[in-house]
Amino acid sequence: MSMFLDQVKVNVKAGNGGDGMVAFRREKYVPDGGPAGGDGGIGGNIIFVVDEGLRTLMDFRYNRHFKAKNGDNGMSKSKHGRGAQDLYVKVPPGTIVKDAETGQMYADLVNHGQEAVIAKGGRGGRGNIRFATPRNPAPEIAENGEPGEEKEIELELKVLADVGLIGFPSVGKSTLLSVVSAARPKIGAYHFTTIVPNLGMVETDEGQSFVLADMPGLIEGASQGVGLGIEFLRHIERTRVLLHVVDMSGIEGRVPIDDYITINNELEEYDLKLRERPQIIIANKMDMPDSAENLRIFKEKLDELEGSYELFEVSALSKRGLTAVLSRTAELLETTPEFPLYDEETEQEERVLYKHTPSVDHFNIMREPDGTWVLSGEKLEKLYKMTNFAHDESIMRFARQIRGMGIDEALRSKGAKNGDIVRIDNFEFEFVE
Ligand code: GDP
Ligand code: MG
Repeated sequence: MSMFLDQVKVNVKAGNGGDGMVAFRREKYVPDGGPAGGDGGIGGNIIFVVDEGLRTLMDFRYNRHFKAKNGDNGMSKSKHGRGAQDLYVKVPPGTIVKDAETGQMYADLVNHGQEAVIAKGGRGGRGNIRFATPRNPAPEIAENGEPGEEKEIELELKVLADVGLIGFPSVGKSTLLSVVSAARPKIGAYHFTTIVPNLGMVETDEGQSFVLADMPGLIEGASQGVGLGIEFLRHIERTRVLLHVVDMSGIEGRVPIDDYITINNELEEYDLKLRERPQIIIANKMDMPDSAENLRIFKEKLDELEGSYELFEVSALSKRGLTAVLSRTAELLETTPEFPLYDEETEQEERVLYKHTPSVDHFNIMREPDGTWVLSGEKLEKLYKMTNFAHDESIMRFARQIRGMGIDEALRSKGAKNGDIVRIDNFEFEFVE
């Protein structure tokens, strides 16, 4: 389906689990206390949560790294380390989270409050209490915490316009859009119509952001009988506030109030309940000599037409009066309900939540020119990171674990001999047949 995309790449790193502790009870009248090293606490997850107050991915342009806290280490006297709090990252409704490298989808976040764990915190390493057995009642074994997941992800948002710019040709809509918008989303193929609304992301001084669309097609397209595509209608539907730009310069012999009435009549004819939407009148080109006088007349006529209206005087060209319009627009957006054009049911798209299930069990063996065997692989490296190398017993446990993965056998079949050096990350050991 064709769409506009706001896209951003982000790095997320969940917290590591805390390290388990090797410790023993030391009590006054007990000569050999048992193991008393506590477990490490769990690392914080990175959780994405939908916040319907957000409309764009603008916030991520400035903040691309998210890191959750690590779990606390286990302590002596059998005390466990505390788990770290999860880090919540707010995203707008409609955000798709993908792996930046593989494109694999992690989550499709639609409804307010919906959550997805995007990077899992590591579990705490076990303290030596956990390794006690009748045969080994005082083990010097503890695990380090499991590393938290780290990912490069890409966020994608199908962008729909929140605010529409309407008005006659040449009143200054495009100029206005270009001076108030910070970023331009990618424009995808538009299948149904050649009319493409021009979109811009707007951020107010108060930090709210919304999508503003110049909608030339609405009026010009309609009068030419060009059918507007479903995508275009979605933009209109989502639009909660209309900015009606009126040229006050009177430069081409045009009468501002006539323009205003004509456009609003067309809106009504269009029959998309567009006249029910809050409208802000933007009296543009106020830098021109005749504008003040034209505006005075415009207001007089307007008073005869309708009871109350909101009007802002601006000059898009000299960027005057814009801040006030944007703040008021953001305010109206927050208080104006949506205007559904369709039945909920027919419009419900199929949403699927994809789960991330990495396959991690295999490992690689490479040989360096000096004969060193180098081992790599996700599971293997995790076991390595979770090994406490300060204690021989822990190291022996590690040796047993990797033998259990079939690494000894694999090395042997590749021709490894007694005394060859084998390396995992920074750790080197001798191969023993
Ligand atoms: P659109 O057709 O509504 O998109 O209008 P444009 O943004 O293309 O503007 C039409 C013309 O009006 C251009 O020549 C602009 O430079 C000019 N224009 C736009 N805003 C202002 C303004 O505030 N003051 C003056 N003097 N000219 C403006
Ligand atoms: Mg234009």
